[in-house]
Amino acid sequence: MRMPIQILPDVLVNQIAAGEVVERPAAVVKELVENAFDAGARRIEIEIEQGGLGLIRITDDGGGIGPQELALAMTRHATSKIASLEDLEQVASFGFRGEALPSILSVSRMSLVSRPAAEAHAWQVEGAGALDSPRAQPASHPPGTSVVVRDLFFNTPARRKFMKSEATEFRHIQQLVGRLALSRFAHGFRLLHNRRKLLDLPPVDDEQGREARVGEVCGEDFLRHAVFLDEHRAGLRLWGWVALPAFARTQADLQFLYVNGRAVRDKLMTHALRRAFADAMHSTHYPAYVLYLELDPARVDVNVHPQKAEVRFRDSSTVHDFLFGTVHRVLRELRPDPALNRPA
Ligand code: ADP
Ligand code: MG
Repeated sequence: MRMPIQILPDVLVNQIAAGEVVERPAAVVKELVENAFDAGARRIEIEIEQGGLGLIRITDDGGGIGPQELALAMTRHATSKIASLEDLEQVASFGFRGEALPSILSVSRMSLVSRPAAEAHAWQVEGAGALDSPRAQPASHPPGTSVVVRDLFFNTPARRKFMKSEATEFRHIQQLVGRLALSRFAHGFRLLHNRRKLLDLPPVDDEQGREARVGEVCGEDFLRHAVFLDEHRAGLRLWGWVALPAFARTQADLQFLYVNGRAVRDKLMTHALRRAFADAMHSTHYPAYVLYLELDPARVDVNVHPQKAEVRFRDSSTVHDFLFGTVHRVLRELRPDPALNRPA
């Protein structure tokens, strides 16, 4: 016996979307920090309790949202980032689907507090699963926005059960925040877990400051074993830090890759780098690097899959060869004894 066809209620539609947008606490953090980037924030504070299952609070000093738009921001397919197909084709913001806030709201107790600089005070909306009321209430907050997410998945117990331990969920958040912090040196980041401050990164704008941040995120040991490179060829630029093969890892936990400033996880790039290390590193180990590829935005599509952070290059073999060639040469030049380079 089948049920009659019916249109699903909004909360359920949002919960279904939430299954994709927010698979775990780290994904919530990612969406909210990217919203802060899109809002022109310079300083971003991330407070976490119980691995993000108890509390996620992201505070920024960006442009804010006016009281008339607060409820709208929490509505599905509502966005200030695109308005037409032309906009979509050249979108430069992280978001544009208008799905993150309503999805998160549908599976948590959430409040959105915001104050554009021109407002005399802040306003807020809140709800659990859905907004309590579309009317914003006066609140107190400096210019900028705070999003507070409590009790993630409280109303979707099957999902909640899939969460790992608080420590594991927090590790994902910490990795993500490190990844984001290395994508935006000009932004300040603070990360707290259960009231303990774990990262406090001031905005930096010079070589020394960037290197200090890499040390904070990847560890001083990484930096001590790393060389800095900066190569240009055929409109491609690759710069960043590569650890010498002696610093091999048993996990791929220190591999940070960026394309035009966005964190990516790209098979083609990872493969090229792995091959560059192949003659110097045992195949059970993973190289460590923080690398930035820059190229004409027309040569790459970064919006292939926003969640998975994949990219598509127009001339992928050129990119592969450039990455492989550059890193391979740097490593070869650094070998202590050139005789070691000769095949036996
Ligand atoms: P999207 O980012 O795809 O537009 P979201 O659901 O993440 O969708 O956000 C909806 C809208 O709320 C955004 O388009 C933006 O206008 C506003 N917004 C969300 N977060 C912030 C923030 N931290 N500061 C200012 N505006 C925000
Ligand atoms: Mg967004």
